[in-house]
Amino acid sequence: MAFEGLTERLQNAMSKLRRKGKISESDVKDAMREIRLALLEADVNFGVVKDFVKTVRERAVGTEVLDSLSPAQQIVKIVDEELTKVMGDEAVPLNKSAHIPTIIMMVGLQGAGKTTTAAKLAGYLKKNDNARPLFIAADIYRPAAIDQLQTVARQVDAPVFEMGTDTDPREIVRQGLAKAAEDKNDYVIIDTAGRLQIDEKLMQELQDIKEIAKPDEILLTVDAMTGQNAANVAKSFDEQLTITGVVLTKLDGDTRGGAALSIRAVTGKPIKFTGQGEKLTDLDVFHPDRMANRILGMGDMLTLIEKAQTDYDEKKATALAEKMQENTFDFNDFIDQLDQVQNMGGVQDIMKMIPGMSKMPGIENVQMGPKEMGHMKAVVYSMTPAERTNPDILNPSRRRRIAAGSGRSIQEVNRMIKQFNESKKMMSKMSNGNFSGMDQMFGK
Ligand code: GDP
Repeated sequence: MAFEGLTERLQNAMSKLRRKGKISESDVKDAMREIRLALLEADVNFGVVKDFVKTVRERAVGTEVLDSLSPAQQIVKIVDEELTKVMGDEAVPLNKSAHIPTIIMMVGLQGAGKTTTAAKLAGYLKKNDNARPLFIAADIYRPAAIDQLQTVARQVDAPVFEMGTDTDPREIVRQGLAKAAEDKNDYVIIDTAGRLQIDEKLMQELQDIKEIAKPDEILLTVDAMTGQNAANVAKSFDEQLTITGVVLTKLDGDTRGGAALSIRAVTGKPIKFTGQGEKLTDLDVFHPDRMANRILGMGDMLTLIEKAQTDYDEKKATALAEKMQENTFDFNDFIDQLDQVQNMGGVQDIMKMIPGMSKMPGIENVQMGPKEMGHMKAVVYSMTPAERTNPDILNPSRRRRIAAGSGRSIQEVNRMIKQFNESKKMMSKMSNGNFSGMDQMFGK
């Protein structure tokens, strides 16, 4: 699977922080060292890694992150945002000409997946833009290149303009464009020749074709498996041809992440699509934010953090933190906490979003549905105001009275008071970003 090693190492670095509770600058420094190594090992360009780590470190030790209620989560969020930024922030759509046809010139080294991607793109345009594309077969050098294009073109049901292998590619492109004008095709996709390496003759030919076709889009296909070398290839192509976008292929393979994370920063050009398999439907629009989530292996964790940020009342949280410090957390706060958790969708839903949590032994025994919460509330509501604010006075006779008042058994009341005391401890850990004791909080 793509990014496996990188994901695992980044997660390790993050969970170390999460386990810390309070985080110091030196903890951040250690985490950054690990992130740096993880990225270098994933074959991300050195300069990109250096800038990335510097930015994350500055943001992490900067404004109020370390003093916040959940520094580890904040740092995860920063890493995610910066990964997104490195890959270009927003998805960049294909260029489209104001008049037909929109001309797309496919370029790339041999074997990168250019011809396959050309067909995928035609399929994509037909599906999403109701397009009537025409392929131009301008690779006359590779044996069977034209046959291959015709095969995949048939699969996506689009015509190919070809003149065999004896005509100069420039002439093929000229005549192909005339044909597209005649047939009123709205897209032209030119499949150009590739080489094993960039050479001058190829570049001259591509420059000439560019001059003739004046493409709206010059899409470079690069193989994600080649790591940061893909970024170097992209740089060379861009310097000589001024590309408009990149398609990163073979992301379904065992790629380490270097290409995805280096290309934008090294070339300044957007990755527009990714190839995720050999089938002609395996083409996806590239969304930097989703890719960052995937690299971090934590799409759901981010949803959780966002949920926590929107649903969790910051003022209440701050008041709670103070109570923890003063050790005045009482049953009124306990009820507040139950409400907050309920607002966020219930304990089990929250648990599921925390990476690794689902694998924890006994997690399936955590029972905290609306019914259980209702019982707990009934018990608290049967307490006098004095008992709620000062749980230490809950002696056996008071407990019996509460049990009778709430309709719960004395054992249940005792268990809940025990849970309350446990949760008092757990809350203080959790407020420092450590979720690992959440199951204990609910009396498992
Ligand atoms: P070209 O020489 O650049 O035109 O490359 P081709 O289109 O002939 O592709 C080379 C090989 O890579 C073929 O076997 C394709 O099936 C394969 N390929 C292309 N894109 C992908 C992809 O996204 N994932 C996988 N797994 N294979 C791909």
